[in-house]
Amino acid sequence: MEESSSLPIRGVLNKLSIKDIDIRGKRVFIRVDFNVPLDENLNITDDRRIRSSLPTINYAIDEGSMIILASHLGRPKGKHDARYSLASVARRLQRLIKKDVTFIPESTGSNAEAVVARMVPGDIVLLENLRFHPGEEANDEEFSKALSKLADVFVSDAFGAAHRSHASIVGITKFLPAVAGFLLQKEIEYLQGVINNPVRPFVAILGGAKVSGKIDVIKNLENKVDKVIVGGGMAYTFLKAMGRNVGDSLVEDSMLDLAREIRDSVIAKGIKFYLPVDCVIAQSIEAGAETKLVTSQEIPNGWKAVDVGPASVKLFSEAIESAKTILWNGPMGVFEVDAFSRGTFAMAHSVADAYALTIVGGGDTDLAVSRAGVSESISFISTGGGAALELLEGKDLPGLVALTDK
Ligand code: AMP
Repeated sequence: MEESSSLPIRGVLNKLSIKDIDIRGKRVFIRVDFNVPLDENLNITDDRRIRSSLPTINYAIDEGSMIILASHLGRPKGKHDARYSLASVARRLQRLIKKDVTFIPESTGSNAEAVVARMVPGDIVLLENLRFHPGEEANDEEFSKALSKLADVFVSDAFGAAHRSHASIVGITKFLPAVAGFLLQKEIEYLQGVINNPVRPFVAILGGAKVSGKIDVIKNLENKVDKVIVGGGMAYTFLKAMGRNVGDSLVEDSMLDLAREIRDSVIAKGIKFYLPVDCVIAQSIEAGAETKLVTSQEIPNGWKAVDVGPASVKLFSEAIESAKTILWNGPMGVFEVDAFSRGTFAMAHSVADAYALTIVGGGDTDLAVSRAGVSESISFISTGGGAALELLEGKDLPGLVALTDK
């Protein structure tokens, strides 16, 4: 389903956006999220984050701005590390945007300032990885000021980093007018929209490794959803909390009481709560391991659940059939291993086929959806892992709070 302005839900961004101010002929510092996955030879394996920033960059080109792009990549820990250079990202961007992109091998200082001073409208530069400087993650005032010297306006489009109080996300807003780019705006509108004003029935599908990573999401959604489906590793903590033997499946013993409480309170509110009824089990999580299909009551000791089984997929798929809004966060099994990926991919197809607004947010779910080949049929796929989770948990994102109010 294509995104369209007539979609039934929309959150509201009460911050200025790039369209609310005049950027014509101005130097525009756009904080993007070019934190792309790289393989062992440092090739970019997925450029979705770069492509997602193009609407904002193209708009600034059309407005005749000088465009200064900045991002982090990986965790170089405040030091120059060639493995995390953005040079190859500049080349990929150049191919995607079909315009020259000048790479500046630093993010602040006299050389960067001199290159920027020579820019003419429509020019694009990409600064070197911001995290090569310790001031970035420390939200250092001097570093923020040095970045701000390169531009007249700050545009925040790095949704994936908006939960970080870093210099290029928060610090810089002290020195420049700070507005949201189109990607940030779209992420907020969808993710906040689904939380504040979902069209019902609203079903949340949660999976992934641990209950501890998603418990706050469940709590925040408790008063908004009609159904909660729990799969992935976190399901086995819930099943154990119900007194089931889950063999050697992933269980967080410290979360058992909380899992029981949450399940009870969700059910007491009349929300339907679904757990796997069958699962694929293996003795080890590796390709080639022997697998068996058992009901969730029959997981033997020495075996662990690595995927949901076909009966669970059928149950979950029927549960989302009448949904008008579906939020999916977290895979149903260890989908990175082919033999354990069927449940996740089958759910990806069910979500994609649902006649509903479908939102995939956070973690590895976007990868699962893309490997299942159904990305085009999902209404909205978030580019932010941690940031999306924090929004779904109901937290304020520092990178959003710092922008100029409308
Ligand atoms: P998260 O980042 O919390 O969404 O977790 C994603 C990870 O959960 C993926 O890497 C999956 O391999 C893992 N996962 C999903 N199901 C299971 C399971 N049954 N046991 C162990 N890990 C799982």
